[in-house]
Amino acid sequence: MKGEHTEIIDLSHLLLHDNETRTFQIKPQLVDFTPRVSNPEAPPKIKPLTFEEISRDDTPQGYYVLMHELLFHTNAGTHMEVPRHCLKNGPDLSEIPLEQLIGEAVILDLRACRPQSQVSVKQIQNAATESGGINRGDIVFCMFGHDVFYKTDKYKRCPYFSLESIRWLVQKRINVLGVDTPEIDSPEATHPVNHLPLFEANIPLIENLTNLTEIKQTRVNVFILPVKIKFLDAFPVRVIALK
Ligand SMILES: [Zn+2]
Repeated sequence: MKGEHTEIIDLSHLLLHDNETRTFQIKPQLVDFTPRVSNPEAPPKIKPLTFEEISRDDTPQGYYVLMHELLFHTNAGTHMEVPRHCLKNGPDLSEIPLEQLIGEAVILDLRACRPQSQVSVKQIQNAATESGGINRGDIVFCMFGHDVFYKTDKYKRCPYFSLESIRWLVQKRINVLGVDTPEIDSPEATHPVNHLPLFEANIPLIENLTNLTEIKQTRVNVFILPVKIKFLDAFPVRVIALK
């Protein structure tokens, strides 16, 4: 971490109820404490709500607490995948050291890569040289500018990596790989070929980043703070860059 910062750039997409490619449902409920006004022993009334009802304060004295139940896919929206995603005994979401998730990120400009084409190791190496090189322990964000197609038909038709380019990033001993696309594997892949070398080296992968083009510098300090849940393979994550 170095330098003074003046701007926070949010690198995560907004998650919307029932409006994601993967399950993401929010059920609001109102805990109404009104019965306690006359009887301190009385149980509060729990009432399921619709989103329209949330804006209406319908307990007589406003003695309520709003809560939600969530049902969602661990790979919804901007999410971080960890080795357990593909490896039986790999570390889960709670086991990734925070030191690995806070630090300097280098942005590789890969905006010249075509949709549905393979990114070669040469392209990655050239982008790395252009950005001043990759250091051991860097967070590496690959900027394709593909986030502009998020939730459109074009989004799935993203550039993908050659196995050689992933292996090259792994041997650079990077801390995290992040992409502004939904996938790093070829649409024809029979199994998550490109995920495996990352996870075998304990390198988490962030898919569906956004706003990398807002950073406009090659190095930036980044915070990735996943919730601490045991056993999970992945989770939506808020990623921020400090500029
Ligand atoms: Zn993935």
